[in-house]
Amino acid sequence: MNVEPFSKDQKYATFLNRWNSLKGNVIAGFTTKQGGVSGGEYSSLNLCLHVNDNCETVVKNRNLLAEHLGFPMTRWACADQVHENSIAKVTKDDAGKGVLNYDDAIKGTDGLYTNESNVLLTLCYADCVPIYFLGPDKNLVGVAHAGWKGTVKDISGEMVRTWKNEEAIDPANIYAAIGPSIGSCCYVVDDYVIDFVKEVLKQPTELPYKEVSKGQYTLDLKKLNKMLLVQAGVLQENIDVSSYCTSCEDTLFFSHRRDQGKTGRMLSFIGMKETR
Ligand SMILES: [Zn+2]
Repeated sequence: MNVEPFSKDQKYATFLNRWNSLKGNVIAGFTTKQGGVSGGEYSSLNLCLHVNDNCETVVKNRNLLAEHLGFPMTRWACADQVHENSIAKVTKDDAGKGVLNYDDAIKGTDGLYTNESNVLLTLCYADCVPIYFLGPDKNLVGVAHAGWKGTVKDISGEMVRTWKNEEAIDPANIYAAIGPSIGSCCYVVDDYVIDFVKEVLKQPTELPYKEVSKGQYTLDLKKLNKMLLVQAGVLQENIDVSSYCTSCEDTLFFSHRRDQGKTGRMLSFIGMKETR
């Protein structure tokens, strides 16, 4: 239904153009694996510290992206991701956390949001689903990381409920964009996973999975997250979904499944630039 919301921009990043026009100072996107200085399986724009890449090299890559975006690393906020569903509100005081050193990242969260400008929320991915959130009338931006675990723990719905309860925003005024992740074309799971999917979907009118052989299913994590956003009150028409599969597009993206675990990480980012 949607036009691809992420258009390729130069060598580093893909951007949510629709949001830039909704609210001029928002910067949001997802990196590719191109344009960095890492070697081997991390070649070349590995942006995360918790894999076995050289930390100094990762910081060099981060600095390249920071310069490209015009958003200095000292203003980034990075998280220690744990495949759970807890949401953290980020303030200016969190800027710089986890940027140079994984140990001081924001602990134990896969969902970040803020209502302050001049802080860039970042999370790392290799196949998991990046979900971006925008609440223009309350000046809110957010991003979540959802592999199958975070997805069935409904981190998408948790962000919506957190904004509704803590920030008094009507879910009908929330926009969401689901970024590049592994597609159903490349993602097969078993009954163990599907049982959790059945549990989290309350009244599905369609299914995000299909049985392909006894007890084996292709699962569309992007579609499932979209259904969970709608279940939480976000309007269908306010959700954009990327068509990119991180496993299929091997020149563009790292993929944990395709690369059998030895791979780099892409970065999702969203923030509001300080207007001068
Ligand atoms: Zn694929």
